[in-house]
Amino acid sequence: MTLLEIRGPHVFDELKVFQIIEWEGEAMPHGVLFPGIPADAIRKASPSGENSRLTETGMIVSSTQMFLVTQGNRAILIEAGSGNGKARPDEPYWDHQNLPYRETLAAAGVGLGDVEYVFLSHMHPDHVGLATTWNGDRWEPTFPGAKYVLAPREWAYWNGFPAGDPARHPCINDSILPLVEAGSVQFARGGERIGPVRVHDTTGHTPGHLVFELEDRNVWFLGDLIHHPAQAPHPEWSAADWDFDRELARSQRRRFFHQFAESRATLLAAHTGDPFRVEEISPGRFMACYGDPMPVELCPSRARTFQQE
Ligand SMILES: [Zn+2]
Repeated sequence: MTLLEIRGPHVFDELKVFQIIEWEGEAMPHGVLFPGIPADAIRKASPSGENSRLTETGMIVSSTQMFLVTQGNRAILIEAGSGNGKARPDEPYWDHQNLPYRETLAAAGVGLGDVEYVFLSHMHPDHVGLATTWNGDRWEPTFPGAKYVLAPREWAYWNGFPAGDPARHPCINDSILPLVEAGSVQFARGGERIGPVRVHDTTGHTPGHLVFELEDRNVWFLGDLIHHPAQAPHPEWSAADWDFDRELARSQRRRFFHQFAESRATLLAAHTGDPFRVEEISPGRFMACYGDPMPVELCPSRARTFQQE
């Protein structure tokens, strides 16, 4: 069996962060992600080389990944990918998948019962799928001992659409509702700390979008606050029409990128691949910088804020 790709662990003292990569590749032409923005402008705003997340032919490189954080024999999962066995008639690439999630987590040393918390940034189908598993009879929580952390406003919004309403994505019924019914949800508001994670409200991409900070290590998991590194210098660029409230999403990016640059945070997002930072390369101008070598003039401080084992 071919396992999913594991990158890392990225080591922060006693904490290890693994990227569990469900998929990575050429996702769409650049004009689909950033309508009306020329490829040259995107390239100029992106890191150089393979971290540009833009091919020579103008295809956007994206990823679907989740993050496993371990400390000794304790484990948490951040994001839950697109999952197995889910009917996704409108998204054939996720329809009735059968990916070796369990085996991949086991290869990282973690059993399903070891996961204490699953942090869900928002309720889109590529972020919640692994939350539940079909047991032959019904959907049940994949991680039997875990609390699933999500924003009450996010749940209230999506659950507000009645059955049969096209706005109610099937993932609400097959991946979230069973968690609520099983009593496995822990609702969290911005500012709360749960385990090693400080939860931050970043409403914008969705009505209750959260980002998660490993608070004592300044490591952040951004969900879909950002879809492409070119949004670091251009927080005003929305990814397609995917942001629920574009203005709010833009202001969240501005606010947080500023903070990330100042505090030299290590950043991971579901669709942007490896750990990166946001650097202020000249007053008011930000760039995403990955751990790999960057042109010095673009990224004056190249020291990695994480180590790889
Ligand atoms: Zn997403």
